[in-house]
Formats: sequence, C-alpha cells, structure tokens
Amino acid sequence: MNVKRIFCIGRNYAEHITELGNAPDSSCLIFMKPASCIVPAGEPIPLPRGRGDTHHEAELVVMLTGGGADIPVENALECVAAVTLGLDLTLRDLQSELKKKGAPWELAKSFDGAAPLGDWQPFLEQDLQSLDFTLHVNGELRQHGHTREMLYSVARQIHILSQTWALMPGDIIYTGTPKGVAALKPGDHAVLEGTHLGRHEWYCS
Ligand code: ZN
Repeated sequence: MNVKRIFCIGRNYAEHITELGNAPDSSCLIFMKPASCIVPAGEPIPLPRGRGDTHHEAELVVMLTGGGADIPVENALECVAAVTLGLDLTLRDLQSELKKKGAPWELAKSFDGAAPLGDWQPFLEQDLQSLDFTLHVNGELRQHGHTREMLYSVARQIHILSQTWALMPGDIIYTGTPKGVAALKPGDHAVLEGTHLGRHEWYCS
C-alpha cells in the first residue's frame, strides 16, 4: 500500500523528553512529513550538509487501513494494517532555533530523506504496547525502546489524530522515540530491529 500521509508523535517517552530539556509534563506533539521524505530500507540516507546535526529517532511505525473520524480508543487498533520501524530524522540544531522562535518545525523535520522507513510486517494483533526495538549505528547500541514506556499508546494516538483528520488507508504514524537520540554522519550504518518488527538497515551518504 502506498503511503498517503505521515503523522508523527513527539514527546511520547518520558526519558527522551527530559534528555532534550523539555518539561516532562508536556502533552504529546503532532507534526507531519510529506510521503516524499521516505527512504526505503536498503537505500542510502542523504544526510543534509551544513545545517548542523541530523539526529536519529528510532520509532515504531504503524500503517492504517483507514478508520475515518472520531475513532474511539477501544476500536482504534482495528485500523492498524501493518507495523515496522523507522527513523524520524531531525535537524536538531535547526529545531532548537525554531523552538526558540516558536516557529513551525518543517525545516528541521520534513526535508528530503527525513523518513527512513523499514519494510512492512503484517499486524497479527501482537500487543503493540509490549514490543522491544533497538537502533545500532556501526554496531554500537544507540537506542533501546520498549513500547510499554509510551505515554500515549498507539490506540490513543489514533483516537487523538482522528479528532482532527479523517484517517484514510495509507496513513502512517511514527509513534515517538525513546531516549538515546544522537547525530548520524556520512558513512554510518544504521540497523533497526525488534520483536515482530523485522530488521531494517541503511547507510548514510
Ligand atoms: Zn520523533
């Protein structure tokens, strides 16, 4: 299924909120990336040059079958078609400047190549709040997340998004990152893997 819209949830793991110096009581944030940002697994990630650090954010990603508007939390997981892992790439220095100005984040979050996305795995009703995943860069463990640590479950995220957007087949959600975000450099080898989530890798160019 072709990706239609990319929704991203920010500030969904407490320890990541504090590592960036944000208040731990902040509610989750929502932003979007165009589908043209996607870099399929195995293709080179074109890191931006001369715009400061590009941070990796390892995330569980879900694909929706649709669902429409105002989806109750209880029914939300019926909308999930497939799952995988992805990187919500972020120009962190630029994002910090934009935050100070109260400006939108697109320049820091929605550049070409900003959404490396793994291969889809079928959603077999595995417990989405009981999944482990890791990001290794050049063999070194950078991020290790467990979805039970999410402040907003996947079902709640779908419910919240559906209050603003009627959800359609091909919508996907990057569900937030655990702690451990850091910069990627040209030549880096990134491997995302997790229980029921497959193994996906990229080289940075
Ligand atoms: Zn993120």
